[in-house]
Amino acid sequence: MSCPRIEVDLRKLRHNTRTVVERLKGRGIRVTAVTKAVCGHPAIAQAMLDGGAEGLAEARLSNVKRLRQAGMTCPITLIRTPMLSQVDDIVQVCEASYNTEMSVIAALAAAAHRLNTVHGIILMVEMGDLREGIMPQDLGYIGQRVVDMPGVALKGIGANFACLSGMAPSATKMQALTALANQVEEQCGPFLETVSGGNSANLPWAFSARATGRIDDLRLGEAILLGVDPVTQEQIGGLFRDAFTLVAEVIETDTKTVGPLLGTADHAPTIIRLVPTTSETTRIILALGNQDMDVAGLSMPAGSTLIGATSDHLVIGTTEQKLRVGSEMRFQMNYSALMRAMAAPDIQTSLHNDRPGSQANDAHGPKKHLALV
Ligand SMILES: *Cc1c(COP(=O)(O)O)cnc(C)c1O
Repeated sequence: MSCPRIEVDLRKLRHNTRTVVERLKGRGIRVTAVTKAVCGHPAIAQAMLDGGAEGLAEARLSNVKRLRQAGMTCPITLIRTPMLSQVDDIVQVCEASYNTEMSVIAALAAAAHRLNTVHGIILMVEMGDLREGIMPQDLGYIGQRVVDMPGVALKGIGANFACLSGMAPSATKMQALTALANQVEEQCGPFLETVSGGNSANLPWAFSARATGRIDDLRLGEAILLGVDPVTQEQIGGLFRDAFTLVAEVIETDTKTVGPLLGTADHAPTIIRLVPTTSETTRIILALGNQDMDVAGLSMPAGSTLIGATSDHLVIGTTEQKLRVGSEMRFQMNYSALMRAMAAPDIQTSLHNDRPGSQANDAHGPKKHLALV
């Protein structure tokens, strides 16, 4: 099998999704599965839908197009503020998008109007992460402008936490979001179908005994894909942490000469001592590097330590004596490593435990799209 590769256990992803969906159902919260870390991989998205996610969310138009090209017909929401230069494509392939800029909303409205469709708008509110969002005091005014604009429909509001600031959402913030939802409805009229509380960092709040208020949706990527809380990196009870495994191949196991090379006369180069001093530790090189991967996000197998990486080489010290040139080594990845590896052109994806006969689009039935670009 080709190396390096990412082995994806789709059964574990279905399990992770179903477990979270079931736990949140009792709290009145739907799951929107976020596929950006896997670049909109259709089979992975399908596993999340099979596990009970209501729809998909993506940050990039290119990934949405990949999903549509594979025949996915479920609702897809763009969670990154649309680029002005992409509005025409966005209204054709996404049911809705998260927005923070009136000029972008106006362009989406014009594009949708031209194409004789209506694009859903979810307004992202700034609640402390200090990444994207409309200031809470401006929400009512902007909501009203959306309502008055042909081509777009105000579908909801949302907030985002712990991305830029690393700050997890508190119960107080969630109460404030509920209050904002009520306020926008009072001011602007339409019922808000979606009040999206945030991402995987919201799960400790969502699983707690606290009232969920108006929050009826969470956008989940990391929790489902890696089974961990993004803030603490702790395992979420009942979820698999190893749905993804990176496999890389050993290309050298020799130990390096230590000390000045013979015959180099005056300017003998300083040689860095890379060989561990213990005789039971071997230094190996894997065909994998910074160009493929966030090496710092790999967890080393027991008995192995990371020595360093360059663009194409990963150097590891290991007590595993069975490793030879041609052997494979397996690693777990954090979110950053997974994201980079899934986007790396030299890393293959190998799917396991797919459902026999499962089709990309049979879970949600036919639904029209203006264009399958
Ligand atoms: C990435 C992202 C998410 C998903 O975050 P996870 O931590 O992977 O659950 C949700 N919402 C927005 C706006 C995002 O950018």
